[in-house]
Amino acid sequence: MDTKEFKKYGHEFVDWIAEYMDNVETLPVMSRVKPGEIRARIPLTPPGKAESMDRIFSDFKNIILPGITHWQHPGWHAYFPANNSPVSVLGELLTAAIGAQCMIWQTSPAAAELEDAVLEWLRRMLGLPEGMAGVIQDTASTATLCALLSAREKATNFESNEKGLKRPLIVYASQETHSSIEKGVKIAGFGRENLRLIPSDAEFAMIPEKLEEAILKDKAAGLAPACVVATLGTTSSTAVDPLPAIGRIARHHGLWLHVDAAYAGTAAILPEKRWILDGAEDMDSFVFNPHKWMLTNFDCSAYYVKEPGWLIRTFEIHPEYLKTGADPYVKNFRDWGIQLGRRFRALKLWFVIRSYGVEGLQAFVREHCRLAQLFKGWVEKTPNFELMAPVHFGLVSFRLNDGRDEEALTILNRTLMDRLNATGKLYLTHTALRGKFTLRMVIGQRATEERHVRAAWDMIKSISAKLLK
Ligand SMILES: *Cc1c(COP(=O)(O)O)cnc(C)c1O
Repeated sequence: MDTKEFKKYGHEFVDWIAEYMDNVETLPVMSRVKPGEIRARIPLTPPGKAESMDRIFSDFKNIILPGITHWQHPGWHAYFPANNSPVSVLGELLTAAIGAQCMIWQTSPAAAELEDAVLEWLRRMLGLPEGMAGVIQDTASTATLCALLSAREKATNFESNEKGLKRPLIVYASQETHSSIEKGVKIAGFGRENLRLIPSDAEFAMIPEKLEEAILKDKAAGLAPACVVATLGTTSSTAVDPLPAIGRIARHHGLWLHVDAAYAGTAAILPEKRWILDGAEDMDSFVFNPHKWMLTNFDCSAYYVKEPGWLIRTFEIHPEYLKTGADPYVKNFRDWGIQLGRRFRALKLWFVIRSYGVEGLQAFVREHCRLAQLFKGWVEKTPNFELMAPVHFGLVSFRLNDGRDEEALTILNRTLMDRLNATGKLYLTHTALRGKFTLRMVIGQRATEERHVRAAWDMIKSISAKLLK
């Protein structure tokens, strides 16, 4: 493709994208294809001869699009959001155009310095402790793995990097912790057996006394506690672990404190939600995902550390071919994570923060929280509906409950969910809270307005009425 053709299709694609954004609401949220359906429409062998862009683009529309689940649909109430925004798409376009691989400062000084600057903006926006240093990772899972590896090296004074792990180190997290903690514990060599899942209270938050008990028990058994992971906004129900108490315990016992706020961290840009970060001064590391609720398209995960030295010493490498004269004066982000090669992700984040302004972003998040409270009110005052967890952010956990036994309630609510999702007008998913099948209504998609939430509730009520008849 030459640049003349590039311009032609570039304009066409941008027109298509704008139309998609305007009309995504008319498409079924969840893709309706059957397993293997898309694969069967793609030739087994690659084309030998060049194909026209017209043909490729038409296949995108006819073959690929029906197999897409539309995360940018205003009826998106599943999982957590993974929002984009027009301005972040434009930023991503420029990142692709520049095509820089930003492993070290010298391979694109602006990428390294903009990443530094924009993460300092974010630190101030959330009110994270002064001095915490940030780096962009691909996902929260990767950031948490970095935290676990740093904790491992700190606990063994960098001996495990040299000799491998010689004795078990123990990691603590709540029963409600995200699966990425278990994955990280396995990959980092702690072993799943050495992950202690601490019981949670009636609101699904970690019980600090139980954490301390577990640490003391392990110490008495001659084991070595190394790290505790607290969650602000758990995946199942957005529970908030009590950071001040957990921080005191971590500090007292010399444990690394990692905080996973992948989804809910964005809420800390609101003064009225800052309380979630009370106790933040005890954190050794913190992660949240602008690619979830901050209008910055996937991937973009912000990872912060109190003392970058632990991170850098864990990851740094000095092969001759990567040495540059600037090394003593700059940040080489290859030493701040697992990958060597890095995308220029700071650009889209910079665009988003500037284009919306902090106030614009706050207005979005605040509106989603308001709509969640509205929905919660409807659940609470409607017979046969049950609220399953406190609503702190944009998630309402609820179920239909007419008093039948638990097994029958599971079937009832699964049927409700399947019928709702089959309408194509909305998409919501479920979880289990203390073993109870629970529907998760997440309000956080960029385009979601009150009318969408009202329409969703009307559908929930009318399908429920039929199911209870
Ligand atoms: C979404 C989520 C994760 C995983 O995020 P990725 O960026 O997809 O790895 C981890 N923890 C919590 C609490 C989450 O909500």
